[in-house]
Amino acid sequence: MITPAPGAPEGFEPAYRALALDEIRRRRDEAVAGLASCRACPRDCEVDRLADATAACHTGRLARVGSAFHHFGEEDCLRGWRGSGTIFFSFCNLRCVFCQNWDVSQAGHGDELSPERLAAVMLELQRTGAHNINFVTPEHVVPQLLEALVVAIEGGLALPIVYNTSSYDAIHSLELMDGIVDIYMPDFKFWDQAPSKTYLKAADYPEIARTAVREMHRQVGPLEIGPDGLARRGVLVRHLVMPEGLAGTAEIMRFLAHDVSPETYVNVMGQYRPEHQASRHAELDRCTTDEELREAKRTARRQGVRRLDERQPLGPEILRLRQRLFDV
Ligand code: SF4
Repeated sequence: MITPAPGAPEGFEPAYRALALDEIRRRRDEAVAGLASCRACPRDCEVDRLADATAACHTGRLARVGSAFHHFGEEDCLRGWRGSGTIFFSFCNLRCVFCQNWDVSQAGHGDELSPERLAAVMLELQRTGAHNINFVTPEHVVPQLLEALVVAIEGGLALPIVYNTSSYDAIHSLELMDGIVDIYMPDFKFWDQAPSKTYLKAADYPEIARTAVREMHRQVGPLEIGPDGLARRGVLVRHLVMPEGLAGTAEIMRFLAHDVSPETYVNVMGQYRPEHQASRHAELDRCTTDEELREAKRTARRQGVRRLDERQPLGPEILRLRQRLFDV
């Protein structure tokens, strides 16, 4: 019998509690052994990360964590009133020229954590009332996640696991997380190869992302949100509207509605701003406009997407509770 987590959705039972711990240990062992010739993500670098060699993701034997905190900037169904227990991994397997977190994703700010320390971070987020554990940029550290999750589950972890990804994921890594992740949160960035090559440094991104999102949907289905407003299980897709229609919003929405499901839950986001190296590309060197965001949402509906995320402002009771809980 595990102790209910204070921030867990009411009546919630995490997917990983239905899996035998021995099965999670078996997957951990398989994933860690694979680090000897790493193909944990689609870059297929085949370097020996067990010997701490690094390649495209600059990450060796241990995962590096940039920050971990109760995040109130996530979607309402994740942040709730106690925040999403977000763990930002350092480095990334993409090279987005417009990355807003480039100090963590490219410069690699953060600390290497052993599986025990990473598990302790998860359990501390649980103890302090986070609604979920939200792994941000996990594509290159799936083996290290599995190592830490075994320790955290043994220690009583009982929160939903959110896998918050660029969608540049290897299918076999996603298969290792089948039955462990409760909520997949893939970001679908570009539909075409040319902008993917120029702006992400990954021409194969669109095909990889399509395959990854289909696999995520196969595992957990459309997003389920409980009566308390908190997400339980399913896929929540993010899509950042780019200037000049560069992202291919219409094609992405058509794919989500027709090839995945019309019930796919989508957050069409309008907060693009030129960061990092974006100003080197004239077409990226401006924010998106309110009209571009409105048009992207109209496009999503026209293409058949039925569930679009709408942000509600934090109410005064929630702000008071948040202040009491975290003194912020
Ligand atoms: S996880 Fe890192 S080392 Fe492994 S294939 Fe991907 S980029 Fe290369």
